[in-house]
Amino acid sequence: MSETAAQSGAPLRARAEIDLAALRANVRTLRALAPGAALMAVVKSDAYGHGAVPCARAAVEAGARWLGTATPEEALALRAAGIDDVRIMCWLWTPGGPWREAVQADLDVSVSGMWALREVVDAARAVGKTARVQLKGDTGLGRNGCQPGADWAELVGEALRAEAEGVVRITGLWSHFACADEPGHPSIAAQLSTFREMLAYAERAGVRPEVRHIANSPATLTLPEAHFDLVRTGVAVYGISPSPEIGSSADLGLRPVMTLSASVALVKRVPGGHGVSYGHHYVTPGETTLGLIPVGYADGVPRHASGTGPVLVGGKWRTVAGRVAMDQFVVDLGGDEPAVGSEAVLFGPGDRGEPTAEDWAQAAGTIAYEIVTRIGSRVPRVYVHATV
Ligand SMILES: *Cc1c(COP(=O)(O)O)cnc(C)c1O
Repeated sequence: MSETAAQSGAPLRARAEIDLAALRANVRTLRALAPGAALMAVVKSDAYGHGAVPCARAAVEAGARWLGTATPEEALALRAAGIDDVRIMCWLWTPGGPWREAVQADLDVSVSGMWALREVVDAARAVGKTARVQLKGDTGLGRNGCQPGADWAELVGEALRAEAEGVVRITGLWSHFACADEPGHPSIAAQLSTFREMLAYAERAGVRPEVRHIANSPATLTLPEAHFDLVRTGVAVYGISPSPEIGSSADLGLRPVMTLSASVALVKRVPGGHGVSYGHHYVTPGETTLGLIPVGYADGVPRHASGTGPVLVGGKWRTVAGRVAMDQFVVDLGGDEPAVGSEAVLFGPGDRGEPTAEDWAQAAGTIAYEIVTRIGSRVPRVYVHATV
C-alpha cells in the first residue's frame, strides 16, 4: 500500500526515510571497531522499525556475515525474501515453534534449556538434516539462557550426545549483557568472567563452537575484550547511540538512518486563550498560529511526549502543544505561517537542525530504541541510497 504511494512520488502525509548508505557506513564503522570478530546485524522487530529486508541486504553488502532476529518467524521471512548467502540466527523460541522450518532454512537456532534442545533434535530427525544449534548461557542478565552449573552441564552433555549422532552441530556458545550501556558497571566484569567459565566448561567437555559471542552494541563500542568471535550489533547499525552515557551518534562516528517527517496539514490563526487538543492541556498564551502535524500515537509518536516532543517546522524547533492524539498533534507556530504542505521533521540525523530520536526519547522519558521501533506500519518507509 504505502510503497506504491512512495514510489509514485506523490506527496506523503508522513514518511520515514531510510538512508541505506548511512546504514552501510555504520556497519563498516562497527566492523572496524571489532576487527577480530565477525559482525551480526540484528534486524529483529522489522530492523528496529527500519524495514527488515532492505536493511538486512544493506548490512550484508557492507560486510555483515550474520543476521540476528528474536523470533524464528522473523528469520524465516528473511530466507523467504531470498536472503540466503548469510548466516541467520534467532533466539526467542516457545514450545511448538517452527523448528523443522528453521532446520530446513539453515537457521542457527538458540537453545537455553532442555525442552528446546529436545524439540530441535526431534525436528532435525524428522527433516533428516543436521540442525545448527547455539547454546545460550545466562551469565547474569537473569532473562533467557541456561543457568551456569548443573543446568549448563546437563544442556552441554545432551547437546554433545546429539552432535555425536550427527543430529545437531553446536555452532555457537553465547550470552547477553545486562548493563553494557553503563560502562564500568560491576556486572560487566562479573558476566565476562562467568561467560569465560561457561565457555571453558563446554570446551573441556568437547564443544568446538564456530563462534563465541556476548557483545551487543554498547559492548562492541566500549569493551574490546568482549568481542570474542562475533559481535551482535543492533541499535548502532541504525546509527543510534545505545545511551547518552556512551556518547552521541556523532561522538561514536555513527549516522542515524531514519528521518521521520510529515506534511504540515493546516496552518491557522487563533486568538489567545484557545484550548488545544484533547483535554485542553495547552492554551494559547496570546494570538498565535497553530500548525497541524498529521502523525500521532498510532504512527508511533509517543503520547508521553505530549507537551514536550520537538519538531522542526519552517526552520525552527517547535514543541508539541497539548496532547498527542491517535493520528495528529498540534504545534504553536508563534505567529509564523509556514506553507501548508511544508515539511515538519520530527527526527533525523540532526544535521539540518532537526531533533534526533534521542531528543524524542528524552522528551518521552524512554530510550531511542523505543522511538524508532514503534514507528507504525501506517508510515511508509522510503529507501534512499540503495545499491541495486
Ligand atoms: C536486541 C539484541 C541485541 C542487539 O542489541 P543492541 O543493544 O541493539 O545492539 C543483541 N543480542 C540480543 C540477544 C538481543 O536481543
